[in-house]
Amino acid sequence: MSRAGATDLHTHSLRSDGAFAPAEVVRMAAAGGVAVMALSDHDTLDGVAEAEAAARPLGIRIVPATELNTESEWGDVHVLGYFLDPADAKLEERLRWLRENRGRRIELMVERLSELGHAVSLERVREIAQGGALGRPHLAQALFEAGHVTSYDDAFLTLISKDSPAYVSRVGLTPLEAVELVRAHGGVPSLAHPRTVIGLEDRLPLLVEAGLGGIECYYVSKDPDIHHGPERTAHFLALAERYTLVPTGGSDFHGRGEHGAPLGGVPVPPGTIAALEARR
Ligand code: AMP
Ligand code: ZN
Ligand code: FE
Ligand code: FE
Repeated sequence: MSRAGATDLHTHSLRSDGAFAPAEVVRMAAAGGVAVMALSDHDTLDGVAEAEAAARPLGIRIVPATELNTESEWGDVHVLGYFLDPADAKLEERLRWLRENRGRRIELMVERLSELGHAVSLERVREIAQGGALGRPHLAQALFEAGHVTSYDDAFLTLISKDSPAYVSRVGLTPLEAVELVRAHGGVPSLAHPRTVIGLEDRLPLLVEAGLGGIECYYVSKDPDIHHGPERTAHFLALAERYTLVPTGGSDFHGRGEHGAPLGGVPVPPGTIAALEARR
């Protein structure tokens, strides 16, 4: 369910692993009643200008953002960085390095899949990505097209999940480096879908010390381990209060229905963006 005036602080487009162009995401968000939308493509701010151009006549506010995924003994720590500047050349240099890492990782996974008898062409994976930051969703689509799996979700369940033999770990930033990178460039970092972090209660003080400003308390997922029901939301709101973090939230819309909420479909309190901005 979405409401007029809704806030959605976690969305993806074709500039990373979403299925729709930034302008289309904005139009769909508007149709769903969204008034404030962060475009948070992985490792890029490339889609922000297009989103802003589409948002202007619709009266929607676009918050420039990115999602930095880290993988370590801390589990999957994904850091959303808000209010970053797409024209910041030093930041872009770091993001470009992260996108190059993404590309190499997918190349390695394509090689392993081929050795395992599930050949897909890297060219096709790149075509599916349409120039966006490469990720496993593009690979999942290619595996489905090639008939190696029965559905997009099945690719994640069987061939490219973390425990699959074709899986290649991400190299890049540590969780603390991701938080620091956002802060160093004038942004406000928020911890995305905190259920994917291992040992959160022990790590959170360190993330806060590094500059964390928010935590995604409002989140829904088809994965019951990651989904926030009312009890988990209350738990994360209590953590937010303990560490004076801004409770954030969003749909994590990619356009394939995989995260379980339409644009604007996760209720986020109206004052959230002002509270985040005050943490710059
Ligand atoms: P990557 O950054 O290449 O590791 O890909 C991570 C992305 O894959 C996430 O942002 C999700 O969009 C998607 N994803 C991860 N796990 C699943 C899953 N089990 N089913 C569908 N999509 C998934
Ligand atoms: Zn994604
Ligand atoms: Fe994420
Ligand atoms: Fe995301």
